[in-house]
Amino acid sequence: MRTALAISLLSVLAAFGAAADTYPQRPITMVVPFAAGGPTDVVARIVAEPMSRALGQQVVIENVTGAGGTTGITRASQASPDGYTIMMGHMGTHGAAPALFKGLKYDPAKSFDPIGLAAGTPIVIVAKKSLPAENLKGFIEALKTGGASMNQAHAGVGSVSHSTGVLFDSLVGAKPTLVVYRGTGPALNDLVAGQVDFMTDQIVNVAPQITGGTIKAYAIATPERSPSLPDVPTTKEAGLPEYEVSAWNAVFAPKGLPADVRAKLVAALDTALKDPSAKKRILELGGTVPKEAEAGPDALQKLVESEVARWTPVLRSAVDANP
Ligand code: ASP
Repeated sequence: MRTALAISLLSVLAAFGAAADTYPQRPITMVVPFAAGGPTDVVARIVAEPMSRALGQQVVIENVTGAGGTTGITRASQASPDGYTIMMGHMGTHGAAPALFKGLKYDPAKSFDPIGLAAGTPIVIVAKKSLPAENLKGFIEALKTGGASMNQAHAGVGSVSHSTGVLFDSLVGAKPTLVVYRGTGPALNDLVAGQVDFMTDQIVNVAPQITGGTIKAYAIATPERSPSLPDVPTTKEAGLPEYEVSAWNAVFAPKGLPADVRAKLVAALDTALKDPSAKKRILELGGTVPKEAEAGPDALQKLVESEVARWTPVLRSAVDANP
């Protein structure tokens, strides 16, 4: 009896130790809460490859779309905290969403083990090529006169394009018709095709189309111009200095990871962001790679808390102004 108990205790301890020591033993799913081809998906795929190499197991992307990214993040937050499900969140899912969803089933600051920031992504005001306005001022005029006949694309309530978009509308006093997509990848396709008029989106999605001349960029909402879009003026230069916003993408895991599993994920993301080709790709697309002070779980936890505090009042009043 005593021997049996000792053996089973030993096997439990062995299993626990083995899980921690040998993680990962099978592929890891990275939930991307938006459609393939959009910025969150692009950043996820850029880091997943070097993370897979660092972990010795494939990091497989699963796109789980809906409700401005909150469907995928809710599902991933409820997965077992064993390191086999992680997710690529962003400023919308982990900053803006609490202001706009009353029944949000996760708390960005409490339901996750943050792994680290993956990329900073400036916001660009982009429009279909055939819009006649030549600069931001002309565009704002057209937007105000056009009213509901102007169509603004976004990736769902609480997403980056939605929150930065409604903020833009409330600042300039525009009331366009909002057109929802499962991510700004598909929204961008429609913008290129001229089916929608404009959107505010993360640079990593729109930069190649701006450079290729298939869409227009009226301004970038950062204090400085982007080295990857040197011809695009800042909002300050273009006459709308009060519109300065930036977004980001970051890796999270469900709360409760064993400490060493978490450490392995943190190290793998760090290695991925130092990988020369991953870094080059993020920078080429206009994104930024986290500086030392911005990298890792503690900085991400602080970022999430400050983003929720920053966006909640701003968005509530922007949405009240333009329901
Ligand atoms: N950029 C998107 C957003 O507006 C989503 C995406 O990554 O497709 O939140």
